[in-house]
Amino acid sequence: MARLLTYNATLVERTDITDKLAVFRVRPDEAIPEGAWFVPGQYMVLGLNNEEKPELGGVQRPMSIASPPEQRDVIDFYIRFVDRPESNNPLTHLLWKIKDGDRMYCRLRPTGKFTIRDTVGDDDSRLRVLVAAGTGLAPFTSIVDSVRASTPEASLSNYAIIHGASYSADLGYREHLEGLAKNHGLHYLPTVSRTHQDTGWKGAAGRAEDFFKPERLADLESRLGLPEGGFNPERVQVLICGLQGTIGMCIQRLCGRGFIPDNRRTRRALGIDEGLKSDLFYEAYDTTPPVDLKDEALVARLKDELHTALAARFNRAD
Ligand SMILES: Cc1cc2nc3c(=O)[nH]c(=O)nc-3n(C[C@H](O)[C@H](O)[C@H](O)COP(=O)(O)OP(=O)(O)OC[C@H]3O[C@@H](n4cnc5c(N)ncnc54)[C@H](O)[C@@H]3O)c2cc1C
Repeated sequence: MARLLTYNATLVERTDITDKLAVFRVRPDEAIPEGAWFVPGQYMVLGLNNEEKPELGGVQRPMSIASPPEQRDVIDFYIRFVDRPESNNPLTHLLWKIKDGDRMYCRLRPTGKFTIRDTVGDDDSRLRVLVAAGTGLAPFTSIVDSVRASTPEASLSNYAIIHGASYSADLGYREHLEGLAKNHGLHYLPTVSRTHQDTGWKGAAGRAEDFFKPERLADLESRLGLPEGGFNPERVQVLICGLQGTIGMCIQRLCGRGFIPDNRRTRRALGIDEGLKSDLFYEAYDTTPPVDLKDEALVARLKDELHTALAARFNRAD
């Protein structure tokens, strides 16, 4: 007999952004703990039982918390329906069958270290560039909304959100983030990759990581108010969330600027001294490694670019 989940939460509301992208608002039965009950950037586990095929039992998946901890009545999750799942009992296919008011499983134990505290550090004053592919935006809405909710007079000028989506309709939270940019100093850079189909889109074209193409870095610096050449670890820290392709390309394109990726195996492969701090942090929604460390030519190139940039950085600092 397949294992079933015991339901302990209710789907209060699903807000569709497109037919495959939605914000799920979930209310756990258990009272949300008092105080700072999670750190923005953390995730929880959602689950459902397969009612149509009970032999498949229940399925649980981690989901980033999109709302800030200051929002205490319901918890928001920004979720994509996965067209080509890998498992035979995909959670997103079950999630798209339930209706407002239906019961579900939600593990009320926020987890994870993809937080400002555990990456760049709460006291670090460098610009925090948050790079999201698709629903990888979720931890970042939690982070910036928490800054505003906890300190209403706080400026967000120390944060940039780069959000990439296939179509402009897939840019969830766009109006909200445009409002934060207009009124509270957030640098918000949405970008659309399928502009040949989305001909009405007049903003930036390409994937999130394309802002880091060498020929586009000067433009990015000007958009972020940095001096020419200023997109480097002395002024900027980078957090990336999404699938492996985006994370991998960000790492590849930013090695030449001296950004050290925060991954033990990658650091070792790139010959990074243990005493050096990382400047580029990521949370992957899939399991494929962002950089293929078996690709010797790639690793050699990245190592060369990174060490050249580090030599220049530390010579400057001397
Ligand atoms: C820490 C963490 C936080 C996560 N937070 C979120 C979140 O906030 N929102 C969210 O939509 N997903 C999130 N995910 C992904 C989520 O856990 C599931 O992997 C995803 O929903 C697919 O589950 P499934 O059971 O439907 O499909 P499965 O049968 O498990 O299929 C897995 C396949 O789905 C692909 N996939 C996984 N996530 C996505 C995605 N977001 N968009 C497109 N393809 C994807 C993977 O590449 C993989 O090929 C997170 C994953 C992790 C590890």
